[in-house]
Amino acid sequence: MVKIDWEKLTFAFMPTKSNIRFHYADGKWSEGELTSSYDITLSVAANVMHYGQAAFEGGKAFRCKDGKVRAFRPDENGKRLNSSARRLLMPEFPVEKFVEAVKTVVADNAEYVPPYGTGGSLYIRPVMFGTTPQIGVAPSKEYELVIMVMPVGAYYKGGIKPVDALVARDFDRAAPLGTGNIKAAGNYAASLLSSKHAHDNNCAVALFLDPATRTYIDEFGTSNFLAIDKNGNYVTSESQSILPSITNKSLMTVAADLGLKVERRKVRVEELADFTEVAACGTAVVITPVGRIFDGDKVYDYHLTEIGPVLRKLYDRMTGIQYGEVEDTHNWTVECC
Ligand SMILES: *Cc1c(COP(=O)(O)O)cnc(C)c1O
Repeated sequence: MVKIDWEKLTFAFMPTKSNIRFHYADGKWSEGELTSSYDITLSVAANVMHYGQAAFEGGKAFRCKDGKVRAFRPDENGKRLNSSARRLLMPEFPVEKFVEAVKTVVADNAEYVPPYGTGGSLYIRPVMFGTTPQIGVAPSKEYELVIMVMPVGAYYKGGIKPVDALVARDFDRAAPLGTGNIKAAGNYAASLLSSKHAHDNNCAVALFLDPATRTYIDEFGTSNFLAIDKNGNYVTSESQSILPSITNKSLMTVAADLGLKVERRKVRVEELADFTEVAACGTAVVITPVGRIFDGDKVYDYHLTEIGPVLRKLYDRMTGIQYGEVEDTHNWTVECC
């Protein structure tokens, strides 16, 4: 068994036993190969180095109450990877083959899945990129798909702490009809400066507005925006420049299951004054409550010291399904080992 202090795990990179790799050449994907190496040999002229033809994904597998390890909605990651691939002219990867690959690499790294009860999980990080050496701007002919995994710890040790957010008015996260709705590597390089600006202002996250008019709320740097309004409804942004979060999609279903009304619509920035609870949602943390949002001289303060009551219920139900404590009525989880 590997020796890991599960309680001290963070979100830092950690090599594990293996990652699985697929190579695309001559119009087809190879069979997967497990390797213990984290190195690749790549020409400095490779497409990805200059033109950033690359997309990634993020998912998780959990050690459940019954001891089994299950991945959460890996098919959704596979489908979203293909929507990124289509937009970036990369070859699609069959979703069934993707789910099998996730099962294989998770099972091979079973000893790295944090034990049930520690709040940890196995993070799954697929990345696809163009490897053909070329200087002309054109899609690559060859590609690599690597799926890595690594154990990550509970984000919240001793209570779910709210974070502050800064409305980004320096740069937008994406162009209006650009690549904001795919997990393209380049989006993240371009968002680093706004995130740094947020950090420099003691805010954990940047909140981006719609790039066309800066009137509506898009999403946080790496997570979707959601809020609970005065009537207890679940409100989340509808926009063509946000990433379709699998966590948000799942939370909307869970919210409906719990009897909440779900509103997916354009959300004006000024509405921040009317919400009772605001949060960021994504795979890494599920739900991060937002305590305050700064926008120039304006401060929206939700007077939180802990996660709010409605979001708490959603959080508990989601993590309950992921850890096999609550019945998985939607068949979201996939047994790996
Ligand atoms: C990955 C990501 C999210 C969250 O998506 P999940 O599928 O819930 O993890 C939200 N916004 C951006 C920009 C992302 O990259």
